[in-house]
Amino acid sequence: MTSCIPFLDLKAINLRHRDQMHAALDRVLDSGWAILGQEVSFFEEAFASYCGVRHCIGVGNGLDALHLVLRAWNIGPGDEVIVPSNTYIATWLAVSHAGALPVPVEPDPETYNLDPNRIERAITPRTRAIIAVHLYGQPCDMAPIMAIADKHGLKVLEDAAQAHGATYEGHRTGSLGHAAGFSFYPGKNLGALGDAGGVTTNDDMLADKIRTLRNYGSRKKYVNDVLGFNSRLDEFQAALLTEKLKMLDNDNAHRNEIAKHYLSALSKVFGISLPKVLPSCNSSWHLFVVRHPERNQIAASLSDAGIGSLIHYPIAPHQQKAYAGHMATMSSLSIAERMQTEVLSLPIGPTMTLKEAERVSECLIQQLSKRTA
Ligand SMILES: *Cc1c(COP(=O)(O)O)cnc(C)c1O
Repeated sequence: MTSCIPFLDLKAINLRHRDQMHAALDRVLDSGWAILGQEVSFFEEAFASYCGVRHCIGVGNGLDALHLVLRAWNIGPGDEVIVPSNTYIATWLAVSHAGALPVPVEPDPETYNLDPNRIERAITPRTRAIIAVHLYGQPCDMAPIMAIADKHGLKVLEDAAQAHGATYEGHRTGSLGHAAGFSFYPGKNLGALGDAGGVTTNDDMLADKIRTLRNYGSRKKYVNDVLGFNSRLDEFQAALLTEKLKMLDNDNAHRNEIAKHYLSALSKVFGISLPKVLPSCNSSWHLFVVRHPERNQIAASLSDAGIGSLIHYPIAPHQQKAYAGHMATMSSLSIAERMQTEVLSLPIGPTMTLKEAERVSECLIQQLSKRTA
């Protein structure tokens, strides 16, 4: 019997850091300080410098990171924000929780990212911002997006929750728009041992506003300047993230090896569509997502062979019950609706071996050649 290949082996990923994690916990215990202290400052500096920006502000999670930026830009009721139709629902919720309206734009089905050619059609006098989601780890085609934003006076917020360390024209995500929201949820490429998130920006004023908003709208204890939130980063999570950040480039390079294997091994397999990476991009390969009309059968056969796979995402945000009655009437989002029936995420991760990736591709090749025969 060959062993199973999990979709993502989070336990193995974190156990590589066991000693550093224990040391981090000791440092926090010895400091006697639990929230927003020295460890958070260290991590904020390290991550800002990693992304190539002046500021990182640690917050409670990725959703808050996005939401707080929109709040800091005074985006709210009556405003519209352009979002991809095929993203994780958090992108949309950030807009809704700010009180604004998410306006979906369809993706390029080959890169899975916002299609810049469709953005201008969605802009109205109420549009204030575009959220560019670097979906599955590949940066959006930012040059045309920034040009459209400049032309119409819009802000660009990167949703970089899946794209830590990915680059566009040599620049890291987090530095490509006016601000970015990151998630350090355990399963992300840079993940804590609990919820955590961060905002990156070069804008000093924005950074100061986010620092205030995350901590009850307060700059000075018990003095509250604005109606703030409680979205702070823990010292322990920050200490872990500082340690894990050192491994991020290695981990992403390993994911890239696995992705390269899939791309070449599966390139000639009939019926399967592979992700397209723009020449200007290095993906962080948070997910390796293929498309096939018989996605469900393929997932079932992989599962029979002991191979994990997942669907990101099975229901587009506009079709979620949560958004029933909250959407402006709109034309159907046929690309997102079709993609959700065809996408399948294959196993990929920093502790998965190339041998395992070969087993996955062999299993797919075997199955799909049977299907066409
Ligand atoms: C994970 C994720 C988020 C939200 O991050 P949380 O830390 O879970 O709040 C937002 N956007 C995208 C694209 C994500 O994948």
